[in-house]
Amino acid sequence: MTLQPDTFKTIVKEAAEQVIASAPELTALDQAIGDGDHGTNMKRGFQAVLAKLDAIGAQPLDEAVKMIGKTLVMTVGGASGPLYGSFFLAAGEALAHKQLPEDLADVFGSGVSAVSARGRSQAGEKTMLDVLVPVLDILKAEAGQADLIARVRATATEAVARTAPMQATKGRASYLGSRSVGHIDPGARSSCVLLQAVCSTLEGRQ
Ligand code: ADP
Ligand code: MG
Repeated sequence: MTLQPDTFKTIVKEAAEQVIASAPELTALDQAIGDGDHGTNMKRGFQAVLAKLDAIGAQPLDEAVKMIGKTLVMTVGGASGPLYGSFFLAAGEALAHKQLPEDLADVFGSGVSAVSARGRSQAGEKTMLDVLVPVLDILKAEAGQADLIARVRATATEAVARTAPMQATKGRASYLGSRSVGHIDPGARSSCVLLQAVCSTLEGRQ
């Protein structure tokens, strides 16, 4: 798997469009255990990314990924804006001295660590980390395997479902205490939407 510049641009476009299309679902999930803005927050952020797509695509990969992070920090808002922003800023920083595809787990891991540090959170607290961490584990364990993309897809989908029985201990959903149980976490779902979009674009290019 080599990442051509046009492939990167297609990935970003596809991911942004999928997040925008899932805004009603993300909002409904956030209405159940938050304040109902996750869909509009993410839609606003990824519309801003789409508006800058040509400028993003013209940058070297590390700068392009950092530009996505800066755009999300400035536009998404809520708790998720700084968290997704941190993910892409840190992944972009890592890309300055790492290679794809061989260092993919390291690069993704830098993003996950940044979310965890910014959110003072870890897997098991019913957040986006409950998707990001299991996917990182697969990237580490199965780097270079022929079915890696399919494994990431399945892991992300299963990980979203596993947030339902969890009780939230971080973010707005934590205010609900045990009443957060039984609902999927909105940020876990948006992380899954992003990952599925990246995977389907890569599958189409194989
Ligand atoms: P807000 O909660 O400020 O309204 P959003 O609705 O946009 O922001 O985002 C909510 C999502 O952010 C949650 O579903 C969760 O996945 C994620 N989140 C919130 N706090 C944290 C945290 N401390 N660490 C990781 N993710 C978090
Ligand atoms: Mg919200």
